[in-house]
Amino acid sequence: LLELQGVSVRFGARTALDTVDLQVAEHEIVCLLGPSGSGKSTLLRAVAGLQDIDAGRVLLDGADQAGVPVHRRGVGLMFQDHQLFPQRDVGGNVAFGLRMHGANRGAQARRTNELLNLVGLPGAHRRSVAALSGGEQQRVALARALAPEPRILMLDEPLGQLDRGLRERLVVELRGLFGRLGTTVLAVTHDQGEAFALADRVVVMRDGRIAQAGTPPEVWQRPASEFVARFLGFDN
Ligand code: ATP
Ligand code: MG
Repeated sequence: LLELQGVSVRFGARTALDTVDLQVAEHEIVCLLGPSGSGKSTLLRAVAGLQDIDAGRVLLDGADQAGVPVHRRGVGLMFQDHQLFPQRDVGGNVAFGLRMHGANRGAQARRTNELLNLVGLPGAHRRSVAALSGGEQQRVALARALAPEPRILMLDEPLGQLDRGLRERLVVELRGLFGRLGTTVLAVTHDQGEAFALADRVVVMRDGRIAQAGTPPEVWQRPASEFVARFLGFDN
């Protein structure tokens, strides 16, 4: 579904991504791990089309995405710094993603209902987003990201603001939800437990390169390098 071929991104003298090769299969959930500054967010932004690349290719369904704008790539985005619209209610926030894709009012209302049920907030349309808890806001953001039925959903620390208990519960819910929907997911997380619970495959990044990629048991039981072993160990 998604393929990166030798993708590099440079900011002046700094190389944020260094000839990265990565493939993500349909329905696969891939979690990116790695120290701060290792290029995780840059990788997501490059796939989404929010970041120009200096070398290499990003392919979706085999098609080179060079020059394809964000809203035509069929990717759903949920980034830490993507706030909900405080002046719109819950339904307005979710419907926003649908309107951008030209759905009519009836279809919007139906789909918004489905999505709110899906994320466990049935009937919350008219609630003000300012009056929601952090976890509820994350769910609305997720519903909004899922609204245009993205082929691939990209999450950058989606549960970053939440306390541990809520994260653990939401991760289990998300795993089930993505399984039911068959969503392909590329997610960044700082939390190894979260990656282990969510991912079919984890990718550990270091200095803009992939240090190791494999299933969670592969990576945790057989770290490919001292760096990976130490990175996984330090965080525990
Ligand atoms: P974190 O875990 O802290 O979010 P990250 O792995 O997501 O880190 P990136 O945000 O991808 O890291 O950044 C990779 C490198 O690129 C860092 O050295 C960062 O300083 C640099 N960088 C990222 N965005 C820009 C930018 N817009 N301009 C200049 N440098 C940038
Ligand atoms: Mg980041």
